[in-house]
Amino acid sequence: MGTTHIVGAGVAGLSAALTALARGRRVVLHEAATPGGRARALADGTDNGTHALLGANRAALRFLRDVGARDGWVEPEPAGLPVLDVADGSARRVALSPAGWWRASRRPPGLTAGAFLSLLGLAGGRDRAIGAAMAAHPAFLRGFVEPLVIAALNTPVGEASSRRLAAVLHRVGAPGAARLYVARHGLGPDMVDPALAAIRARGGEVRMGARLRTLSVEAGRAASLGFGEADVVLAPDDAVVLSLPPWEVARLLPATPVPAEHAPILNLHFAHATSADERGGPVRFLGVLGGLCQWVLVRPGGIAVTVSAADAEQHEAADDLAPRAWAEIRALAAAFALPGAWPDAPPPCRAVKERRATPRHVVGAPPPPAPRALANLALAGDWTHPVLPATIEAAIRSGARAVAALP
Ligand SMILES: Cc1cc2nc3c(=O)[nH]c(=O)nc-3n(C[C@H](O)[C@H](O)[C@H](O)COP(=O)(O)OP(=O)(O)OC[C@H]3O[C@@H](n4cnc5c(N)ncnc54)[C@H](O)[C@@H]3O)c2cc1C
Repeated sequence: MGTTHIVGAGVAGLSAALTALARGRRVVLHEAATPGGRARALADGTDNGTHALLGANRAALRFLRDVGARDGWVEPEPAGLPVLDVADGSARRVALSPAGWWRASRRPPGLTAGAFLSLLGLAGGRDRAIGAAMAAHPAFLRGFVEPLVIAALNTPVGEASSRRLAAVLHRVGAPGAARLYVARHGLGPDMVDPALAAIRARGGEVRMGARLRTLSVEAGRAASLGFGEADVVLAPDDAVVLSLPPWEVARLLPATPVPAEHAPILNLHFAHATSADERGGPVRFLGVLGGLCQWVLVRPGGIAVTVSAADAEQHEAADDLAPRAWAEIRALAAAFALPGAWPDAPPPCRAVKERRATPRHVVGAPPPPAPRALANLALAGDWTHPVLPATIEAAIRSGARAVAALP
């Protein structure tokens, strides 16, 4: 059996590498920059952005178990997500799944029978813009559907596709599927590092600083991979998985249809320790309605604010964003009695702007390409999943699917 060259060590590439190793193939994983890709630890150990998983993300949780990292993912809010509406100061806990709404105290704002039926209507039928489809239920749209769509699809509700959301809604109804998990210490120690260790321990080779510059194709097959210094000439039974973002695939294989538009995610990282005990302190995950912040992750070492679909905010300076976000965090701390000191002045804050965080999941987007692009080359990556929005789950599934598509 030949060698499988996997290009790109984002989660899709890590998943492809583990799948190929499990099939007994020799594996070389090539990464240009930082393993983890869009779900990575920055040089100082901070995550590029908060990443949450759901119980519905079965492939992602299986992947974590496989590499021995499942215990690093904790459920911060088992009693429902604490949400503060900064417009009127109301605070409540909201169940993410309709199965939890039988308790009045866990219902989202604006939930009526009509609103619920409209939500169910989104899960079937033709592809529509979610904002227009839910316009008759503005309180439910603002209080539940919009935050869900922005978090899951990273696309404003005015243009977001009901079909993509349906893929999420279909999956969160099962028992345990709406449980939300975050990495206790970070994406490096709780996901990427254990995956790389598992790949190496199972015989895979990992090449860092290896940017694929050119790909030569002969007679419908990938013939060689150009990494600058040394080209890899492919043997007849070698194979390639391109596990790259769409713009890189478009550069290397220009005929491939790729998503044209992307949406940004902004994260603000406040250096605010909430517990003297770095390892044992609480992890919290709270939501804000009507503010700048959407989600606030409180970990012992610091606080991270997520602003998805941040089309406007990506152009603002961290110095302007930090005081606004901090005021909302203090209001959250007061509303939900978060322990610790919450001074008036914002602590040091760093903004991380991922300008192409995910494709925009708009109505009527063309389907992704088939995984097998050449006789010996398959595509992986979150954007190649035909149904799910671009997430860790989609990326991990795409890696396994790409390997399965190879001869
Ligand atoms: C801020 C932020 C928050 C997010 N939050 C969530 C969340 O809460 N839950 C969730 O499920 N998903 C979330 N996502 C989405 C998730 O991060 C992505 O769907 C997933 O990481 C994509 O993985 P991938 O392997 O498909 O692509 P990438 O992570 O983009 O991996 C591609 C890899 O290829 C490398 N590369 C690029 N060009 C080359 C080249 N020429 N040669 C070699 N290597 C190359 C890159 O360096 C990168 O490591 C978030 C994304 C961001 C940015």
